[in-house]
Amino acid sequence: MRIHCPHCGDRSVDEFMQFGAAGLVRPHPDAGLQAYVDYVYLRDNPAGPHRELFQHIGGCRAFLSVWRDTRTHQIHGVEVVAPAFVGQDGPGGQRSQEVQP
Ligand SMILES: [Zn+2]
Repeated sequence: MRIHCPHCGDRSVDEFMQFGAAGLVRPHPDAGLQAYVDYVYLRDNPAGPHRELFQHIGGCRAFLSVWRDTRTHQIHGVEVVAPAFVGQDGPGGQRSQEVQP
């Protein structure tokens, strides 16, 4: 499977880390234990188009929202959800330069 990174072009899925479903919203701090258990452990498992969060760890490090059909692995769309970073200021990992989409 290949993902088209808006910054880097078509790349192998091996360059990306998947974080599961995109668009999860953390419950309000007063929502209670069950709301947090659901937030951490319960996920939909759709057969068809699904929006997932990926980070291009082998490239620009941008976080991407990817619309992917779970039955065919066909990708219907990719959009940047967080800025990409290039360069580091040392072993602490402070990023030094943003890349605008
Ligand atoms: Zn990239």
